[in-house]
Parts: sequence; structure tokens; C-alpha cells
Amino acid sequence: MSDFDPKQFFHQMPVSLLCKQLDKDETYANPACLALFSASQAPDEFLQSIDFFDALTHIPLAGASHPFYACDSENVVTLYVRVKSKTRNISCTVEGKRFSSPNSQWVVLHVSSAQENDVTELQPGSSPLANHLAFSHLLSSISSQLINVSTENLDYLIEKSLGAFGDFCGVDRCYLFKFSKDKSAMDNTHEWVAAGIEPYKDELQNVSLADLPYFEKIIKQEYVFKVDDVETLPEAAILEKEEFEREGIQSVLCVAVHLNDDLFGFVGCDIVGSAYTWREHDIRYLKLIGEILSNSLESVANRLSLQKVTRALEKANKKLAYLANSDGLTGIANRRQFDDSLEKSIQRGMRERKPISLLMVDVDHFKLFNDTFGHAVGDEAIQRVAKALDACCKRSDDLAARYGGEEFAVILPDTGCSQAKLVAEQIMQAVEDLNISFENSPTKGRLTVSIGIISETCTQSLSSNALVTMADKALYKAKENGRNQVVCKS
Ligand code: GH3
Ligand code: MG
Ligand code: MG
Repeated sequence: MSDFDPKQFFHQMPVSLLCKQLDKDETYANPACLALFSASQAPDEFLQSIDFFDALTHIPLAGASHPFYACDSENVVTLYVRVKSKTRNISCTVEGKRFSSPNSQWVVLHVSSAQENDVTELQPGSSPLANHLAFSHLLSSISSQLINVSTENLDYLIEKSLGAFGDFCGVDRCYLFKFSKDKSAMDNTHEWVAAGIEPYKDELQNVSLADLPYFEKIIKQEYVFKVDDVETLPEAAILEKEEFEREGIQSVLCVAVHLNDDLFGFVGCDIVGSAYTWREHDIRYLKLIGEILSNSLESVANRLSLQKVTRALEKANKKLAYLANSDGLTGIANRRQFDDSLEKSIQRGMRERKPISLLMVDVDHFKLFNDTFGHAVGDEAIQRVAKALDACCKRSDDLAARYGGEEFAVILPDTGCSQAKLVAEQIMQAVEDLNISFENSPTKGRLTVSIGIISETCTQSLSSNALVTMADKALYKAKENGRNQVVCKS
């Protein structure tokens, strides 16, 4: 029994084993494990190159969380990890256990590929039908998530979908590129990378297709760019080979994506470190994913431009409504809005038998003002009076309007005589405070106004015409009494 050699024992096991002798730096991979990682040619290099990552969080498993050490401290572990090696990177289930022989103590990890559809290995247990069913399931879950995706969530969901597909296939990188309008350049719009794989999206923006002529020709003419092993690329693809080698890509598959009969871009995936023979259904799967993603991008873009047009239309309508209801010279409500508003205010007040007050405000001796200073100065004075008037309408239902010429009207709903008088006094004061010089005015040395007020209770028999006529009468009285004053007719 003392002849027992653990390595001989591991060697003969039909399952993939990765072993470490405790208290020694030595690690060992049996032939099944080397085969799984396509590393039979260079086992030592393989053993030196392996890194473990948490398959879900992508966090490197080092120190105490490294599977060898986790197993050493807990005796038995089961982990879901991404194993990265010089040759192949695989998402794996790792079951670890301590193993004792008479002469040595070991930690043994049973490593099995976790991919249902591992592109780098035809799984003996998984039938093509099972794979297709699993893929259909993945596709419908991606489509249902993307179908009503909001603008803010789109990029996140596209990358999540690329990740789901990448995980499903066991590749290292999955991405979407969009061609520019003239198809001379491309942007890497979305990218997913497996644990431990370097992302390149930020670098691959506005990449000129003239720099990758071999790729450009094939993707535009044949729509599928398939390279099982970058080593075997022809002489014509020297630039592409350089780029793939720079990114560590050994095997790559890109499928063109069309949208509304136009070449949108392409979707692709990479395998870092090892060659792989792409199969027909890999191409079909990738194409379907690409179509779903580009459709989502397009529908969100359409939705956005529709929203933009709707917003512009709403803005134009608002402007139109404003123009239709406001006075061109002063910007306050025009006669049309006044008529409409007075009618509505009476109707509203009627229900609760509330009072309403109407003020007619007329600038004194304005003909003389115009004759003295000219029409342009007259216009400016009208603008300033309108602004002062408007500022005196403090409640949201109050309305100041230009009734015509140099005459204004103020509607004060739910306001009785005494309150209306106060507002009228404020208006007189505000106009006086404008201090518009009018030396030759027969009334005062500056511009003044006269105001007629009518206050009534809103009833069925009260018409807007009657209110205006009564307010006009009060105004006439104010003029007759010497101008620059308020007359209230209640
Ligand atoms: P009263 O004190 O009796 O109201 O005298 P008044 O001169 O103001 O009254 P009248 O109705 O005789 O004259 C109104 C003047 O207002 C005549 C008109 O030229 C002037 N006016 C009306 N609309 C405008 C305008 O938009 N701009 C200018 N600058 N003047 C205007
Ligand atoms: Mg006047
Ligand atoms: Mg007038």
C-alpha cells in the first residue's frame, strides 16, 4: 500500500480532476481535465495559467476564497466558477474534497463544465433538441424583457441579454456593433465579457472599416464572418489578425444584422485563448439574438423621435393658443380671451351665487399724449401700463386684458365692491409709480388712468354684456368727474 501513488490514481480517473498536494506548491491536472481545457500539449503552462473567478460576481477567487484553500479549510466545497486558463475559459461547477493517501494529503477538485450549450465542447449528455429548447427558452425570456423596455433600461438590458447568451454558449465576449450611416465606420455599442476577460468597448468607437478591409468585405457581402482559428487567417487578413491578437482572440464569429432591409451592424462573440469550430446553429442563434437587439434599439429610437415630435407639436400648440389669446403689443390677455374668461367667470360664480367685479381702465388724455410724444412713445406707455395692471391681478382667477386701444379691463371673480375698490386704488398707484412724464396733461403732470367698477352677484340674469356696459358707465362717470379717479357702481 505504501507504493500507492495518488497521481497515478488521479490519472486513471475518467472525470476531470485538478489536484493540489497540501503543504506543497505542486498542482496536478489529470488527462480528462487537460482535455477539457484543450491543454494536453502543455500541462505545466496550463497549471501555471489558471485563475478562478466567481462566475456570478466576476470577483477573482484568490487567497482564502481560492477553491484549493476553501476546500482545505472546509473539507468539502461546491462552487460555481469561471476558470480562465491560457487555453480555454470555462464556467464550471467545482466540487472539492480533501483526499488522504498514506504518504500525502491532497485537495482534489472535480471540475465540470457548467454550460448547457458549451460551444467548445459537445456535451455527451445534451442532445441537439435539448439545446434548441434551452435556446428557445432563452430567446423568449430576452424578447419578453425587451419588448416594452424603457429608454433608460435599454442599454442595461441589451448587455444583460448579451451576457445571458454569452453564458449560455460559454464564450468569452459578446457584443453588438452598429455601422455609421454611410457604413464606413462602426461603434461597439454594447459588450458583455466573462469573468477575467478584458473589455474593449470603450476603445472600439468610431472604428474605420477601411482599417479592417478583409472583415469589411466579408461581413458586407457574405454577412457571416467566421474564424475558427485566428492562426489560419489568410494573408489578406493581416490587419484583422493583428487586431485579434492584440485582444487575445483566437476564435471569432460575427453575424450581420439587418434592420428594415438595411445593414444595421453585426453581433459577435469571441473565444480568447483557444480555437473552436463554429457550428451552423451557433450562427443561427447569434443571428436571432442580433435581430432582437437591433429591433429593440430601433423601436426605442422610433419611440424617442415620436416623443420629440409630440413635444414640439405640444409646444407649437401652446404657442398658437398663446398667440390667439394674447395681445400683440402688451402680451397680456386680448379681447378674445377677455370675452371667454368673463363668460366662464360668471358661470362659475352663478353656482355659488358669488359676486364678481369688473374694472374698465382707460388712460387719460391719451390722444394728447400721442400728439405730444409720438406714437412710438405712446406704444411704450401702453406696454408699461399693461404690465403694471397685470401685476395688480394677484389671484390665479383674476385677469387683466387689453380691451382695445388705450382701454383695459380687469376681471375679479369672487370679489365684492370694497375689495374691487382696493384693487383699483392699487392700479392707480401702480400707474402713478410708473412716473410717465406728461407735462401738458390737463389732469396731472404725469400719465394717469380712470377706472370704472361694477360689482354684481352672479345670477342667471347677469350677462357679460350688461357687466361691460355698467362698468363703462362708471368709467364715463370717472372721466366726467375729472379723470384720475375710481368710480364704483354697485
Ligand atoms: P380720455 O381721457 O377721454 O380717454 O381721452 P383720450 O384722448 O384718451 O381718448 P380718445 O378716445 O379721444 O383717444 C384715445 C387715443 O388712444 C387715440 C388713439 O390714437 C390712442 N391709441 C389707441 N390705441 C393706441 C395704440 O395702440 N398705440 C398708441 N400709441 N396710441 C393708441
Ligand atoms: Mg383715454
Ligand atoms: Mg379710450
